[in-house]
Amino acid sequence: MIEFQAVRKQYPNGTVAVEELSLSVETGTITVLVGPSGCGKTTLMRMVNRMIEPSSGTVSVDGTDVRDRDPAQLRRGIGYVIQQAGLFPHRTVVDNIATVPLLAGETRRAARDRAGELLDLVGLPADLGKRYPAQLSGGQQQRVGVARALAADPPVLLMDEPFSAVDPVVREGLQDELLRLQDELGKTVLFVTHDIDEAIKLGEKVAVLRQGGHLAQYARPDDLLAA
Ligand code: ADP
Ligand code: ADP
Repeated sequence: MIEFQAVRKQYPNGTVAVEELSLSVETGTITVLVGPSGCGKTTLMRMVNRMIEPSSGTVSVDGTDVRDRDPAQLRRGIGYVIQQAGLFPHRTVVDNIATVPLLAGETRRAARDRAGELLDLVGLPADLGKRYPAQLSGGQQQRVGVARALAADPPVLLMDEPFSAVDPVVREGLQDELLRLQDELGKTVLFVTHDIDEAIKLGEKVAVLRQGGHLAQYARPDDLLAA
């Protein structure tokens, strides 16, 4: 479980990105943070893996305050997917994914086998593995980004607008795929979007944020009040 307790963030220039806010992401579920640009979504997400420290309050993962965790070790348990997949342009798809198991000390053969399994898991054909990122569509690149985030089999996934850069039809396919994967893998997912329809489709719980980092609603999709 990811827990934000009375978390507040004010940047050094005085901007309050997050007003005191509490919410939690139950283990094995998807919680969506939704709201307009600048309402503090990314700030909240980055507190989970200690890329940003809260000004006050605590963020904990599985009951441990993240400040008590070694950042590198913490991040090994947290997959991170961003809007532009952030793939290494000069490495093939397989090598992009295999980097993670290689760094974890697996043999080259085992790392490539793992990359092959992951391609299959995210619904990409094996022969795409030999291509370079620029030779893939945007939707395919995002799938590779998801595969790479899953390569270390992290219990927690942070997804920051992962499908926002692809066209609506492809986006629907990626959303369906995420729901299928979630059924299979049961990750603890914090998902950020500015699209309320996406939030309602994917979230078991949805946190609606307003400008200035105010938590306006926090409920199951069926219980959200029309805005
Ligand atoms: P969102 O992800 O919802 O678009 P962010 O968390 O990126 O929102 O930003 C929330 C607010 O904090 C915005 O007003 C943004 O301009 C501000 N902000 C983000 N990062 C910084 C920073 N490093 N320094 C100052 N202000 C920042
Ligand atoms: P480098 O070797 O240059 O640190 P990495 O691939 O480790 O490259 O990381 C690239 C960027 O992604 C860095 O800015 C790092 O902070 C960030 N990053 C790496 N792993 C994670 C993670 N699990 N969660 C969030 N951010 C991460």
